[in-house]
Amino acid sequence: MKSGVFRRLLVTYILIMTIIVGLLSVLMSQYLKVYFFNNKQKDLTNTGRQVETQLIRYRRGDLTKEELEKQINVIGRVTNSRIIIVDGHNSGAAIADTGLEDDLETILKRVLDGEKVIKRQQYASELNSYVVVVGIPTGSAESKGAILLFSPVYEVAQALRKVYEVIWITAAIALVVGLILVWITSRRISRPVIELSRMAEQIARGEAVPDVHGMADDEIGQLTRSFNYMKNRLAETDRMRKEFIAGVSHELRTPLSSVRGFIQGILDGVICDDDQEKYLRLAFEETNRLTRLTNDLLDLTKLEAGVIKLNKKEIQLRKLIDDSILTIRRSSGKEGFTSIVTVTPENLSLKADPDRLKQVLINLLSNASRYTPDNGKIEVEAKLYGSEVKILVKDSGIGIPDAELSFIFEKFYRVDKSRDSSAGGSGLGLSIVKNLIELHGGSITARSSAGNGTVFEIILPQ
Ligand code: ADP
Repeated sequence: MKSGVFRRLLVTYILIMTIIVGLLSVLMSQYLKVYFFNNKQKDLTNTGRQVETQLIRYRRGDLTKEELEKQINVIGRVTNSRIIIVDGHNSGAAIADTGLEDDLETILKRVLDGEKVIKRQQYASELNSYVVVVGIPTGSAESKGAILLFSPVYEVAQALRKVYEVIWITAAIALVVGLILVWITSRRISRPVIELSRMAEQIARGEAVPDVHGMADDEIGQLTRSFNYMKNRLAETDRMRKEFIAGVSHELRTPLSSVRGFIQGILDGVICDDDQEKYLRLAFEETNRLTRLTNDLLDLTKLEAGVIKLNKKEIQLRKLIDDSILTIRRSSGKEGFTSIVTVTPENLSLKADPDRLKQVLINLLSNASRYTPDNGKIEVEAKLYGSEVKILVKDSGIGIPDAELSFIFEKFYRVDKSRDSSAGGSGLGLSIVKNLIELHGGSITARSSAGNGTVFEIILPQ
């Protein structure tokens, strides 16, 4: 893993270095050639002018041939160049004299035709030294002549050697420094990644792992933070799953063992014939409770998995509340409580899933009736609140102690387990209610104190 990152970074680095060194060498050699050639060319052109001046003096008779040759020799030595003067009459001899190569012959022809020629070339005989040739036409139309000047440009090779030397030394230093930096960087990248994958394996084996610390403010740090978050969420989900299973088993055990006991009693003849019907009815009630519990569980699982889709419609709140109260009166068999419904404005409506909203109200009202004595009062109030609808379900029942209030929306939570179990509650009702309200984009809260009744407040977008 580590060597993987290291190798990749190293290859990339060496590639970049090679490109830089290559480019630098090519550009520098081009630049130096142009620079030295231009200088040499300027020098040779100036020398050519000096030679021409001497030639004119010679033609005028101011100089003898020997004097001219002497002068030319001096100029040639001083400027480190070879000078050939070709006169129209004896050009053939001159060329033979210098042993000019083929293309020099063509240069001479062009100069004799009156063209000024400048050429840079690499001498075939001395491969490593460059030569600049400058050809200047001279003489008159009748007697054409040419001044040819050659000069080697040793500096190019020398300077290039120096430049390559500097480039290679720099490249070598950069390679060593780069190697160290690449190694440090690859360690910085691979270390936390190796650590994270080791931890991921531990988590997969079900072992508990601590948070990963020392996060940098980069992508690796981001990965570490996401990993920590995922790990904690997994732990939380696992904890909830275990609690859920424990809750379900607990809820199933009580009714199942009751039913089992009743049937066993009848089969063993412990329950006499007269009592059998009574116990069968009790068993029947227990199976009803089991059915309710499994329905609630199914609902809750679907809600939490997010697979329940709302079928929203415009709902008249007044009718929905009245229907829900009627359902509760019938199903609970409790007629003793007084119910008051206030809806303002009277025709207040909202967009929601009617079945699901009714399920919410029935759950709250069934709790209210269950925990309110027979002569108690249940009040439902619905009002418009800006662009939201507020629904209050109040009862005058036993209330919920302050310390318990924050837990009542949790799964399987009951304030008093023995009391509610006998009353048929599973502790899932409020969980379902909260999920349904949140699915509608709303919220639900509860206010209460022991003995003083309870108020559930729902806020829904209209
Ligand atoms: P259950 O099915 O047991 O009623 P819920 O989730 O509906 O489960 O309610 C959780 C617990 O909150 C109940 O067991 C009960 O102790 C308490 N509770 C809910 N509503 C009321 C209420 N109106 N008055 C008093 N206690 C309530």
